[in-house]
Amino acid sequence: MAQKILIDLEKLRSPLGHSCDESPPEGFCGFSSNSQGLKSIRELAVFQFTCRRCSEAPCIEVCPADALEKDDRGIISRSTNLCISCKSCVVICPFGTKMTDFFEYHRNKENYYDLSDEKELELWIRNSPQGAVTRVDMEEDPEQHIYKLSEHILVRERMWFTDKL
Ligand code: SF4
Ligand code: SF4
Repeated sequence: MAQKILIDLEKLRSPLGHSCDESPPEGFCGFSSNSQGLKSIRELAVFQFTCRRCSEAPCIEVCPADALEKDDRGIISRSTNLCISCKSCVVICPFGTKMTDFFEYHRNKENYYDLSDEKELELWIRNSPQGAVTRVDMEEDPEQHIYKLSEHILVRERMWFTDKL
């Protein structure tokens, strides 16, 4: 297999270009129950590449479970063992950064982050909107809006300008 996968966040957000039987509220395909790992990776990617890194982050302020925190680069992370899936942070984010389906599951994202389970990976790719998750053999390429999330995962996102990266 190619060494990496590329997740196109734009395609994942788009209600076009895939064949959902019905459209959930955010316009995403209903991923299979076996694709929780992809949701985990999407969450990490969105926090890293889509989130505007608000200095007074309202999502952190509103969280009743103290489940969100920011690192020294301003990147948000969520403690899945604390999160109660209330979705207050989704509602309050002024940029619509978070999607409610991130919060439907409490799971260990580390299991998926290295993509070591080939069967799971195949399921993610098959259950994703067409072209949203692909196997690639390439490096980070900011000119194409492609950034490195981890050793095995590239993410395509049109980032807002920041000097914090
Ligand atoms: S969904 Fe989770 S992270 Fe978001 S505000 Fe509620 S408890 Fe906090
Ligand atoms: S409110 Fe939204 S954009 Fe701002 S830090 Fe939280 S998730 Fe990011």
